[in-house]
Amino acid sequence: MENCLFCKIIAGEIPSYKVYKDENVLAFLDIAPCNPGHTLVIPKKHFQNMEDISEEELTKLILGVKRVGNLIKNKLGYQGYNIMENNDPVAGQIVPHIHWHIIPRQDGDGIELWPQSKYEEGEAEEIIKQINT
Ligand code: 5GP
Ligand code: ZN
Repeated sequence: MENCLFCKIIAGEIPSYKVYKDENVLAFLDIAPCNPGHTLVIPKKHFQNMEDISEEELTKLILGVKRVGNLIKNKLGYQGYNIMENNDPVAGQIVPHIHWHIIPRQDGDGIELWPQSKYEEGEAEEIIKQINT
């Protein structure tokens, strides 16, 4: 898609450090890593988000995520990783070409996950009711 940053990376118009590629996906280093090796995995075809991408294409994408996860552990020696997809601007999606972050993790790296809270009385029941009606 014209004017899409990640389509330009796929087309080679913008350089990137490539981690993995196959027929369907490209994985490259995030320019501003949480930890060294932080990688973005994207479909070669342009889809905006989880609603836009088909189940078939998403399946291919998540297989790419799994393969890159293995590289992060086996080649870079990390103990684990977080997988994240910011779906829509309200969730922090800046680039509107779906991408999965793979964030390598090691003990004591200081990365904190999101804050958690508690349900009020009856709130969880109400949510389940809304989802099921
Ligand atoms: P989002 O917030 O949309 O989930 O994540 C977009 C990510 O793309 C950010 O982590 C940002 O650092 C990364 N990014 C933005 N521009 C570029 C670029 O030109 N090259 C690379 N490799 N990563 C980029
Ligand atoms: Zn695109």
